[in-house]
Amino acid sequence: MADFFDIELRFFNALKKRNICVWYQPQVDMRTGSPRGAEALVRWKREDGGFMEPACFVPVLERLGIIERLDEEVLRIVCQDIRETKQRQISFGPVAVNLSRLHANRAGKAEHFKEIIEKYGVQMEEVSFEITETAEKYAGNKVMTEFADCMQERGFRIAMDDYGMGGSALRLLQESHFDILKLDRHFVSRIGDPRTDIILDSTITMASRLGLEVVAEGVETREQIQFLLRHQCFLGQGYYYSRPLDRERYIRWRKAAVQAHHP
Ligand code: C2E
Ligand code: MG
Ligand code: MG
Repeated sequence: MADFFDIELRFFNALKKRNICVWYQPQVDMRTGSPRGAEALVRWKREDGGFMEPACFVPVLERLGIIERLDEEVLRIVCQDIRETKQRQISFGPVAVNLSRLHANRAGKAEHFKEIIEKYGVQMEEVSFEITETAEKYAGNKVMTEFADCMQERGFRIAMDDYGMGGSALRLLQESHFDILKLDRHFVSRIGDPRTDIILDSTITMASRLGLEVVAEGVETREQIQFLLRHQCFLGQGYYYSRPLDRERYIRWRKAAVQAHHP
């Protein structure tokens, strides 16, 4: 218990000292290798200069009930980065922000997110949100459906993250209107296994017929890309293209990728 409060204290300290940082992992059109946008991934800068990965603190902040503070800080940093790069006339691309499942339980959240992005002069198309599929387990199907609808009504694009790893994703897909489906890395890393291939093929077909854009997570090899393209999944994200990068490195990566495609 003492550890818990210790983390809470350290977290608020980190917020104050601006030690909560955002890295960007590019998303790519795998047909051409051209950049499409990025996912924002949080990092916590330690006193020794190193960075803590979200697995070390996101679950704890969720249990403490303060994850919303983290997600809002990440959204603010992303909006700030979009605004600053616009001022420098640099193309940044749309950014996907992760939302904890716990937001779904709070009324007025979508409106609040909209206020934040408007404050920074960011357009609706410049951000989207990823909600992990397991959210349903915590928030209940009805609550999740209402939350997804509410986000959509405000004009946000929403992705179902980690598809295939949760409980009742099919029901959620049946009842809610997501825009994007992210295939979990677990499946992508097992491409070549006959059962996995059947599951991926069927999932991509289903998602496309439901009008969802499909993004493959954790793409690491050329063989995986070839399989995904053959099965009409065109968007990918993973170490094959790039690891998550800090803002300036992401800008450089993006510039080089754009130049490679429109020299
Ligand atoms: P996620 O949203 O599914 O993000 C993808 C994770 O997969 C990232 O880990 C990314 O670095 C990793 N990844 C991407 N490509 C590859 C690959 O080719 N191979 C391998 N082995 N890994 C790859 P990361 O940054 O450690 O984030 C882990 C999870 O933490 C995220 O999973 C997300 O659920 C959560 N998270 C990250 N940022 C936030 C945030 O701002 N708010 C909340 N609530 N959760 C966040
Ligand atoms: Mg995500
Ligand atoms: Mg994911």
